[in-house]
Order: sequence, then structure tokens, then C-alpha cells
Amino acid sequence: MKIYPKHYYPSIYHIPYNQLYAEGFRGIVFDIDNTLVPYDRKEPTGEVEKLITLLRKKGFAIVLVSNNTKRRVRLFARGIRIRSVFSAVKPLPFGVRKGLTILGTEPEKTLIIGDQLFTDVIAGNLLGLCTILVPPIQEKEAFYTKIKRGLEKKLLEYADIK
Ligand SMILES: [Mg+2]
Repeated sequence: MKIYPKHYYPSIYHIPYNQLYAEGFRGIVFDIDNTLVPYDRKEPTGEVEKLITLLRKKGFAIVLVSNNTKRRVRLFARGIRIRSVFSAVKPLPFGVRKGLTILGTEPEKTLIIGDQLFTDVIAGNLLGLCTILVPPIQEKEAFYTKIKRGLEKKLLEYADIK
């Protein structure tokens, strides 16, 4: 079983979405917990909203696929009006497959972005998606605060992906 990701980036804000779009990718499956926000954050941050908005403008279809509960996932997704799959039981492929159906994209044209090798990456590899691993947010929070200005700069750079 393949457990390694295709790519690894320091955060969701460091992924070269423009380049991936140019390579033909059209769908994105995002994990929520510790990928988009920490576990204890109920709603998307402003940065997450901005990123999702920019990715949609670029032309990506986006779905959230989470192992967390219906309550947590629906509340989070409502804030950014995004489709979602809860209780996905990654690394089993069912939840991610459901996500692909929602997206309507081929697995080989779809990215899965998550913080866990043993859930997100394995599930993605089983279905033939392009797997992208990011480090868990919670372990990096202090570090992130320090480089917040750098992240803001990155976000501004995404402004030209429209
Ligand atoms: Mg996670």
C-alpha cells in the first residue's frame, strides 16, 4: 500500500495551485482538522475563506471530506458555503469516493490535501488522487504566528490567480 504523498508543502498557503491547475487538476478534496483550521476552531478563518474564494475563481471545484462528525463538518462548511462529506472513515476510500462524485472530477485530475499520512494520504492514494501532505496546524501554531506576515504576503500573491 502506498503511504507516501506526491507532494509536501509547509501549509495550504504554500501549495502552487496555479501550477497544479495548469497541469490539469480541477478538483480539490480538503481535510478540515489541522489542515484548514485547528481541531478546536469551529468556523473557517478569514485566511481560509480568502483561499477558498480565490481557488473557486481560478476554476477549482472544492469539497471537504472529514472523519469528524456531521455537526462539526456542517457547521464549518456552512460558513464558506461548501459541499462536504462527514464521518468519511479515511483511510477507507468510501468518503473520498463520495467527495469525487460531488466534485464530478476524475481522480487523476483531483488533489487531496490533508495533514495525516494514515488517513488523507492513504485514502487518496487508494483512489488514484494526487496526494498533498501539509504539517498539522496545531503543532505549528507558534511558528505560524511568527511568520504570519510571510503568510499574508503569500495570500496576496494568490490575488493574481484570478
Ligand atoms: Mg486532519
